[in-house]
Formats: sequence, structure tokens, C-alpha cells
Amino acid sequence: MRVRLVDLEREYQSIGSEAEQAIKEVLKRGDFILGEAVGRFEDQFAKFCGTRFAIGTSCGLDALRLLLLADGVGPGDEVITAANTFIATAFAISAVGARPVLVDVDEVTFNINPAEIEQKITKRTRAIIPVHLYGQPADMEPILQIAKSRGLKIIEDACQAHGAEYKGKRVGGFGDAAAFSFYPAKNLGAYGDGGVVVTDSSEVAEKIRILRHYGQRAKYEHTLKGGNWRLDTLQAAVLSLKLKHLGEWNEARRKAAACYGQLLRDTDAITPLEAPYAKHIYHLYVIRLENRDQVRRRLAERGIESGIHYPIPLHLTPAYEDLGYKCGDFPISERLADEILSLPMHPFLREEEIEYVAQNIKAVGER
Ligand SMILES: *Cc1c(COP(=O)(O)O)cnc(C)c1O
Repeated sequence: MRVRLVDLEREYQSIGSEAEQAIKEVLKRGDFILGEAVGRFEDQFAKFCGTRFAIGTSCGLDALRLLLLADGVGPGDEVITAANTFIATAFAISAVGARPVLVDVDEVTFNINPAEIEQKITKRTRAIIPVHLYGQPADMEPILQIAKSRGLKIIEDACQAHGAEYKGKRVGGFGDAAAFSFYPAKNLGAYGDGGVVVTDSSEVAEKIRILRHYGQRAKYEHTLKGGNWRLDTLQAAVLSLKLKHLGEWNEARRKAAACYGQLLRDTDAITPLEAPYAKHIYHLYVIRLENRDQVRRRLAERGIESGIHYPIPLHLTPAYEDLGYKCGDFPISERLADEILSLPMHPFLREEEIEYVAQNIKAVGER
């Protein structure tokens, strides 16, 4: 048996002909740049998130970068985020010339520990970027409180959390704005790169529409120094179609997660906990194991793909040597990096595959 970490082939078998139809319609119209499908998808995605506006972007990193630009964050400023996240969160901060300031994560939820944020705030702090890692929302209430009392912006990095809920409400509308990624493997993925910004602020929305499109308010009327950070029409057409399936796909992931949880109950593996405030949508299903590398080898031998998200915390990554952090600065993120293992997780995972994965994890303990 071969079990894929993410299985886009099965997704294609399920919606391929509809997707081809959607793409064909764009090809016929030829409106490849900011075409009709972009606006349509933006409306649908804003509705989905319960926000007033959605603005399509070239990718998730650029969605975050655009939000920082729109807020005027730049050189000399600091932005707080989690030490255990995908590097794009920090790169967005660096891209505008600001400095990422890291905070350790909570051992149970893997998300930024709100209790450690306050002590990282300085005169230069401008914003906090909580990441809804692996599809579980960060604990937003205390974070929003800190931001409010200290006059900081909140930008949600929701790149792994399309449809996840915090206290019964979908993520994306909690902070001042949020960024989503449509990288193909995300819960809502394009056939290439894509991203979106959502916000309730008409001012931020307007600025981002201008910035993403060469800083143009109207053709050749460049009012801001922008860039080329637009969502492709072809991708928007595909995303509209896939958005219709997202609810059912997220439920399938939750079902697979429950199944893993059952089967791994009596093992040494620590399975992910859904926080009482959260609806987790399991972008990744991440367990913890002391003998992670041994288990990972066994799985690979038996045709089971797995991943590590992420093997090196941001503060120890060579690209961020300049921040001056050292080993031991974020002990929980460091320990997690040695113990976490992402198991196959996607909406088309079959029960017998989950059983096969669980059997092989158990077998290592018995050897
Ligand atoms: C995927 C991801 C991004 C970046 O998205 P891209 O579309 O690849 O640029 C940012 N933050 C997190 C947490 C992500 O998982």
C-alpha cells in the first residue's frame, strides 16, 4: 500500500471535469488578469469568512506582505509572531524591512503562547501576527486584548486555516485583517500559487487593491509604490469551484483525525488536541513521538509518506542568524521540532489507510 501525505490525484478524480470546464471558460474569455472570475471569487470568499472584503493576491506570503505595507509597517518596526511557523510568516515581515520578534508556542495547541507576548512588546512593535497553525486557531481573545490595550494591529496568518473556527466563528475576521494561502496542498488550494487578504476595513481593502496592481488607482495613475501581486483569473475560477467543496472536505479531514485519534489512543504518540474554543480543520495532522525518526523510517519503508512541519524553528534557521537568537531561546518550539510528525491527511484518505498507518506506528513500539 502507498499512502500519500496529500493526494491531489484523488482530488482531481473527484472534481477534474468541473475544473476543466471552469478553466475553459476563462480561456474562452481571455480575461487572464483581474478577470471576471477574480471578483466573483473574492465576493464568495469574503462571504465565507464573514468579512466585508476579500482581495485576491499572488500567494499567501504576498497577502501578508501587502497587509504590512498597507499598515505602513517598515524599517525600524517590529512585528511579533510565533517561533514555530512556516518561514513565510517571518519573510513577510522581513520583506517590508521590519524585524520579526519571536514568541514561543503553547505545547498543547502548537500556537503562539499569549502569556509570552506582552514581554516582547517594545516602543517599536507595530503588529502581532498570530498563526492558526495546522488548522487550529490561535487563542485570539487574549491576543486581541493585548493588541487593543497596546494599540497594535492584528494580522491573522490563516494560511493553514480555511474554515477553522474560534468560539463558533470562522477565522479571518478576528483581527484587523487576515491572509490566506491557496498553495495547492492547503485545505483550499489552487492549481498553482494564489492567496487572499480579508478585512472589514474599506481603507485597507482599497489600499491593497491598489498595491497589488502596480500601485494603480486607475490605469497608469500610480498613487502608491506597489507591485505585481495579483491573483490569476484562472486560479480564481478553480478556487470558486473548490470553495463549494471546502466544507465537506474539512469534515472529511475531521473524520480522519477522529479515526487516527481512536487508533493511536493506546500508543506513545501524543495526538493533537482540539482546543475547547476551536474547530480544528486539520490542514496537518501532527503527532508527537519521542522516537519520531525511527517511526518515520518505518513508515517510509512501508510506503507511507510523512512530513515534519517544521524541522527547524525560525530562530535557528540560517536565514535568520542576523536576529541574534540562540539555541535554548524557545525551548518548546525546539522540543517540538524534534518530536513532531505529520501523518497523511487529506479529504480522500480511506479508513483502511488510516488503519495501516496506525498499525505501523504501533509496530515500532513492539519491535
Ligand atoms: C503556506 C503558508 C504561508 C505562505 O503561503 P504561500 O502561498 O506559499 O506564499 C504563510 N504562512 C503559513 C503559516 C503557511 O502555511
